[in-house]
Amino acid sequence: MNNRHETLRARLVDALGASNVLTDGDLLQRYARDETSDLEHAPDIVVRVSTAIEAGHALAICNELGVPVTPRGAGTGVTGGAVPVAGGVVLSLERMNRILEIDERNMTALVEPGVITGDLQRAAGEHGLMYPPDPASLESCSIGGNVAEGAGGPRALKYGTTRDYVLGLEFALPDGSVIITGGKFVKNATGFDLCGLITGSEGTLAVITKILLRLVPAPPFTLDLLLPYDTLEAAVDDVYAILANKILPSALEFMEEDAIRITARHLGEDMPFPKARAHLLVQLDGPSGESVRDQAAAVAGCVGVPDGRIIAAESRTQSERIWRARRAIREAITAESPVFLAEDTVVPRSEIPPFLKGIKGYLNGKGLRSVMFGHAGDGNVHIDVLRGAMGRAEWDSTLPELKKNIYEIAIAHGGTITGEHGIGYTRRDYLGLALGEEQLALLKRIKSAFDPHGILNPHKIFVD
Ligand SMILES: Cc1cc2nc3c(=O)[nH]c(=O)nc-3n(C[C@H](O)[C@H](O)[C@H](O)COP(=O)(O)OP(=O)(O)OC[C@H]3O[C@@H](n4cnc5c(N)ncnc54)[C@H](O)[C@@H]3O)c2cc1C
Repeated sequence: MNNRHETLRARLVDALGASNVLTDGDLLQRYARDETSDLEHAPDIVVRVSTAIEAGHALAICNELGVPVTPRGAGTGVTGGAVPVAGGVVLSLERMNRILEIDERNMTALVEPGVITGDLQRAAGEHGLMYPPDPASLESCSIGGNVAEGAGGPRALKYGTTRDYVLGLEFALPDGSVIITGGKFVKNATGFDLCGLITGSEGTLAVITKILLRLVPAPPFTLDLLLPYDTLEAAVDDVYAILANKILPSALEFMEEDAIRITARHLGEDMPFPKARAHLLVQLDGPSGESVRDQAAAVAGCVGVPDGRIIAAESRTQSERIWRARRAIREAITAESPVFLAEDTVVPRSEIPPFLKGIKGYLNGKGLRSVMFGHAGDGNVHIDVLRGAMGRAEWDSTLPELKKNIYEIAIAHGGTITGEHGIGYTRRDYLGLALGEEQLALLKRIKSAFDPHGILNPHKIFVD
C-alpha cells in the first residue's frame, strides 16, 4: 500500500467513519461493474455516504489529493457511467434511500438519490399520484441514477422523461460545497436552470444528494393492447398511423421477432403470437373505462391488424405478463449473448420507418445478428447487436466502425446518438459526431466551472 493511498484512506475514515470506507478486495469488486457488457474496473476505495455534508467531505478530500471520484447509484447503467475506469474512489449513494415526503397539495416528492424508482412509483400511487418516468430497470435502478442519466421509459411518449419532473436538487461539488436549487414551484425564471444542467450530467458535474420531483394525478384507467404483425415494416408504419390519427398512447413500444423469441425462451413462457415478425404494445390511459375503450376502438380503426387479432389485456395479471416480457428483453439478450452492443439512438418519429429499415439493411449486410425493440412512439430505438460466436479479436475490431455507422445513420435521419442511456464511457469517442466542435468545447468549459481539477467521473462523456 503506498503513502498516497494510505493518506486518502485515513482522511476518509476520519471524515466518514471506518465502516463507511471499504478497502477489502472482494467488496471493491462488487463496485467494479455496472450493467454494461464487457466493462470492468475495480476502485481503490468505496465510500458510502448518508448525507450531503458527508458527500461534500469525501469530495473535498479527493479534490485536494487529486483522486478520481465516480458517483454510483444502483449500478444498472449500460454505458459504463458508474464504472471507475480511472480507479480512485467510488462514492456510493445506496444508503441515502429515504422517501422524505410526498406532498399531495403541491404534488411533489422529496427523495434521497438512492431510492429505487419502483418504490417511489408505489409510494406516489398510495396518494393517488403518479411519478411517470418508467425505465424498464425501475425495480433495480435509483432515482439519483435516473436524474444523472436523464432516464426515460415507455411512458416518455405521453409524459416525458426524468428531465421533465425535476423541480429541485441538492448537490455537492468537488470543493465540498453543497448547493440547493429549485423548489416546490411550477414556474422558475430565477437565473440559469441548474436542475436542467445537472440532469443528464452523468456524475461529471456534481453528486446529487436530494431530489424534488413533480408528480401528476394518476390516471385511474389504463388498457394494454398487443398487436401482432407479419412484417417489421407494417408494425412501424402503424406506429405512425396511430400518432397521425391524433391518438396519444401513454406507451407505444415495438419488439421485433427475435426480441420476442429470445424473451419467451428466457422466461419459459409462450407468447400469444409466436409466429409474428413484430409486435406493438400500446398502453392507453384516461379518466374512465369508456375513454380508454374509445381510444382502443380508434387504434383498431387505424391500424393494419384485424380487430380480432388485437389482444386487450383484460386483467392486471395479463397486463403484467405482457410488460414483464417487454422489460425482460435486455436480461434475455444477456443470457443469449453475454457480450453485445446496446445502442439507444433516437430519431424524429416521422423518420422511424426509414431509419429502422436503413439500420436493419446495414446490419444484415454486415452479417450481424441484431435485436431491435423499444420506444417506437418517441423515436427511441434500442438496437442490440449480439457478438454470439464471433471471436473476441474480430468483435473488438468490428465495434468502432459499427457504432460510428449506427450513429451516423441516426444523425442522417435528424436524430442523435442516445435518447436515454447517456454517453458514459462507451460512447465518448463519438460525441463529436452529434455535437460538433464548438458545442463540445462549451460543454468542456461548463465541466471545468463545476470541477476545475477534473476529479468527477473522469473519462466519461468526454475524451480528455
Ligand atoms: C434491464 C435494464 C433495463 C433498462 N431500461 C432502461 C430504460 O428503459 N430507460 C433508461 O433510461 N435506462 C434504462 N436502463 C439503464 C439504467 O437503468 C439507467 O441509466 C438508470 O438511470 C441508472 O440508474 P442507477 O441508479 O443504476 O445508476 P448508476 O448505474 O449507478 O449510475 C449511472 C450514472 O449516473 C451517475 N450517478 C448515479 N447516481 C448519482 C448521483 N446521486 N449523483 C451524481 N451522479 C450519479 C453515475 O456516476 C453514472 O454516471 C436499463 C438498464 C437495464 C440493466
